[in-house]
Amino acid sequence: MEASILQPELAAKIADLYERMEKAYDIVARQLDFTCDGCPDNCCDSYFQHHTYVEWAYLWQGLMALDPARRKEIENRAAEYGAACERALARGERPQVMCPLNDEGRCGLYLHRLMICRMHGVPSSLTFPNGKVQRFPGCFRCQEIVGERQVVPTVERAPLFRGLAALEQEFLGSLQGELPKVKKTIADMILLGPPRL
Ligand code: SF4
Ligand code: SF4
Repeated sequence: MEASILQPELAAKIADLYERMEKAYDIVARQLDFTCDGCPDNCCDSYFQHHTYVEWAYLWQGLMALDPARRKEIENRAAEYGAACERALARGERPQVMCPLNDEGRCGLYLHRLMICRMHGVPSSLTFPNGKVQRFPGCFRCQEIVGERQVVPTVERAPLFRGLAALEQEFLGSLQGELPKVKKTIADMILLGPPRL
């Protein structure tokens, strides 16, 4: 298995999908007059695992563009992150450790941050083919803003997820279904190197 680099055409498609996510988010944020400015928290310490090879490869495209010393610094932080998460999990706690890509409160790889990073904050929904709808209320600050509103603007995740699934299929081709499922933190992805297909 070789480390997989994204072809430029596919990289452009994921950048486009990420831009659509950002636009969908911004529309809802504007409707709610919501920003992260002045937030006492920083949700980049939330424990998330990510599930696609294509996002993993795109994250690595961003990491490869950094100078080696900077990448080494991020790898060291990822190792510390992994150890801290293991300790928390061993205590039976959900880890709360700052993402190794976060630089003093800001994302250090903003254009390559993953889908979950782009969805967190505003209310969203996921409509399944059977019509069932799962709702996500947004972060604690956004929930305060939404308050008792009857009509709440939301980002609908389904078309964005479908877009990501299509890109995953394009990236994996005939290997889809044969590879292990991805369930990795950003730190795992950093420490493992680009996905090997
Ligand atoms: S990738 Fe960026 S936005 Fe996502 S958790 Fe890490 S620092 Fe935050
Ligand atoms: S998404 Fe919410 S919790 Fe996270 S930084 Fe923004 S305001 Fe704070």
